[in-house]
Amino acid sequence: MLADCGSCFGLCCVALPFARSQDFARDKSAGNPCQNLRDDFRCGIHERLRDEGYPGCTVFDCFGAGQKVSQVTFGGVSWRERPQSARAMSEVFPVMRQLHELLWYLNEVLGLRRARPVHRDARRALDDIERLTRACPEELAAADVPAIRAEVNTLLLKAGELERAQVTGRKKNHRGADLVGARLAGADLRGANLRGALLVAADLTGADLRVADMIGADLRDARLAGADLTGSVFLTQAQLNAARGDRTTKLPPTLRRPAHWEA
Ligand code: SF4
Repeated sequence: MLADCGSCFGLCCVALPFARSQDFARDKSAGNPCQNLRDDFRCGIHERLRDEGYPGCTVFDCFGAGQKVSQVTFGGVSWRERPQSARAMSEVFPVMRQLHELLWYLNEVLGLRRARPVHRDARRALDDIERLTRACPEELAAADVPAIRAEVNTLLLKAGELERAQVTGRKKNHRGADLVGARLAGADLRGANLRGALLVAADLTGADLRVADMIGADLRDARLAGADLTGSVFLTQAQLNAARGDRTTKLPPTLRRPAHWEA
């Protein structure tokens, strides 16, 4: 589920659209290569993305969908070598990304000891989705991703509840809450439900987020210096990349400290 850009035909830089904003210096439509994409499918400004006005690119994570589409779905033949496949690749990539994201979560469920009651269903869902990711481009493009997401989401909800049950006492429920800019420095959010919470620019400095369910929480520009995220559930690299932490932020072992965080 980890991105391997060296095995990808730069699909995130081709398939996805972006609009000129504080995240991107220019507009780009879906299916068109970014002007910074080199012939070898590497980014020409990779080391300077933030300085050049592309911080949005530094927070993106494809969960390994790029190399799967490039090497498996299209057999290692790039859209430069076979331009007639470019459109199909651009259609399949966002589908694959969503499927890989679900695989990431389901893999995590299988590693949660307290979620054992749902392990069998999680394994079955994981196998089904893994099989789908190996289908032909037409089958992938036609996949009913919202239905698959809804089914998996029920499982993830149960798994998150089982895992959070290890924290005794009253736990905060901020599911879907609007906490934009909230002052939560030092807050006790251990075992909290933060599913889909809007935590944009929230101050979570020194907050205790152990075993909190973080699925879908919007952490853009949230301050995480000194926060403890060990054991948090369903936190992704993309969420961390979008936040602002430092070397004192404690992370789950499966995630890495973003290079652009403060030293
Ligand atoms: S700026 Fe670089 S990383 Fe961002 S879309 Fe363009 S080529 Fe890709």
